[in-house]
Amino acid sequence: MPPEGNARPATTTKPRRLHNFIDGAYAQSAGAKTFESRCPADNSIVAIVDEASRADVDQAVSSARAALTGPWGKISLDERAAILHSIADLIDERAADFADAEISDTGKLIGPTLNGEIPRGAMQFRVFADIAKDGFAMAPIASQTPMGKAANYPERAPKGVIATICPWNLPFVLSTWKIAPALACGNTLVVKPSEETPMTATLLGAVMNDAGVPPGVYNVVNGFGAGSTGAFLVAHPDINAITFTGETRTGAAIMAGAADGIKDISLELGGKNPGIIFADCDFEKAVAGTAASVFHNCGQVCLCTERLYVERVIFDKFVAALKAKAEALKPGNPRDPATTLPPLISIGHREKVLDYFKAAHDDGATVVSGGGIAQTDGALVEGAWIEPTIWTGLSESSRVVKEEVFGPVCHIQPFDTEDEAVAYANDSDYGLAATVWSGDSTRARRIASQIEVGVVWVNGWMIRELRSPFGGFKHSGIGREGGAFSLDFYTEIRNVCVSEG
Ligand code: NAD
Repeated sequence: MPPEGNARPATTTKPRRLHNFIDGAYAQSAGAKTFESRCPADNSIVAIVDEASRADVDQAVSSARAALTGPWGKISLDERAAILHSIADLIDERAADFADAEISDTGKLIGPTLNGEIPRGAMQFRVFADIAKDGFAMAPIASQTPMGKAANYPERAPKGVIATICPWNLPFVLSTWKIAPALACGNTLVVKPSEETPMTATLLGAVMNDAGVPPGVYNVVNGFGAGSTGAFLVAHPDINAITFTGETRTGAAIMAGAADGIKDISLELGGKNPGIIFADCDFEKAVAGTAASVFHNCGQVCLCTERLYVERVIFDKFVAALKAKAEALKPGNPRDPATTLPPLISIGHREKVLDYFKAAHDDGATVVSGGGIAQTDGALVEGAWIEPTIWTGLSESSRVVKEEVFGPVCHIQPFDTEDEAVAYANDSDYGLAATVWSGDSTRARRIASQIEVGVVWVNGWMIRELRSPFGGFKHSGIGREGGAFSLDFYTEIRNVCVSEG
């Protein structure tokens, strides 16, 4: 465990030296390039990372290809599942190391990281091992057609070498959300973490070795996107499928790249998520839940709410209550359990968020709360801090109401009728998630069924069951993962038709 107390620096150790993990070993890159990973709490350098060259990517893909037919390809589903359970146990044993690495890369808060995101990553290996055991076999289909009598045996086979490209906002949770089902289905992987957050996926290499995963099954190549490691991976002819989470624009570039070679894709993209709050809600619960959905992880979760629609009779009261929640958030050392507001991921991302603050001002927003850089002291003043920010008074066509800001921000608009609330919610190119707060469950379900998004939470937020489908409508993605939907993406299905005539 990192030491406790406010006086500690945000980062605990001297910068780590990170090599790529290829064919079961950490190896110096074939190229000479390195890059820095910085902790956004104080902008200190926390890792010097090898940037994987095209030659490194080639080596990683060919070792993943070879591993498909090696020992990994010969073990049973039960043996694979047992290895996944060992991976989960080892992550739990090393949770403090993983949490420390994740906090160094992201500035995330110690509590939700150590007690939430790292154990969640471990759990995904257990759950997807069990989902594969339950769902891999498919029922036979007896057929009697004019062509004759036959028995059909559909069976699942691994899809092959999977490229996994991840964002920085939930590095360990989102990489393991893809790695666990891909391995459970017998695939091999080349993982490219975000250049902002290379650590936890790289540390996972040692866990794979210790859990008995054969060399080549799990590979990590670090680097950037366009013109770098990510683009080399997408273009590689020996990749069978790409699972990507990140921005919609990047998803479009990856989709275009995947066309060459007919690679299958799963895209989990951006959102501009609405929350609808009716006057008959449990007010305190709706305010607390909405505050979490707007400000959690400094608003850097794809499922965070950035557009709120509040029934007019409670509008003023709701705005005041949310303002109080925003102003109670406390920036500080992420390793101090008393800190409740983490930083943004980088100074560069803060520039983007500050641009949106300016756009809101230029469009005539009323700033209810925040609107600037959050005050910190000591080494933290160098960090990427920002104030939780609430706006009212904007038109629905304003940039900050239309575009994903990916920060601790929301705009609040009053509404009078259900139809108006639904129309506001659906007036977006995105379609990832929504929340509905109402004491009338019939009405809440009626509204939920009209919102064009992949997940609607009623009177809650972020309750994520791994067996339920997850993905987006419209520009928020293509495909679904989770439960049996993950099996569908990470396997090919072969039908063996045995003639009985
Ligand atoms: P990003 O698209 O900038 O980067 C994601 C990854 O793609 C990084 O590893 C990056 O290096 C790589 N990349 C960038 N350009 C590439 C290219 N041309 N070819 C190959 N790889 C490339 O996204 P980000 O800023 O890291 O993450 C934030 C975004 O992710 C937000 O839009 C957020 O909504 C979205 N997100 C979506 C979900 C979801 O489940 N739908 C979950 C988390 C985050």
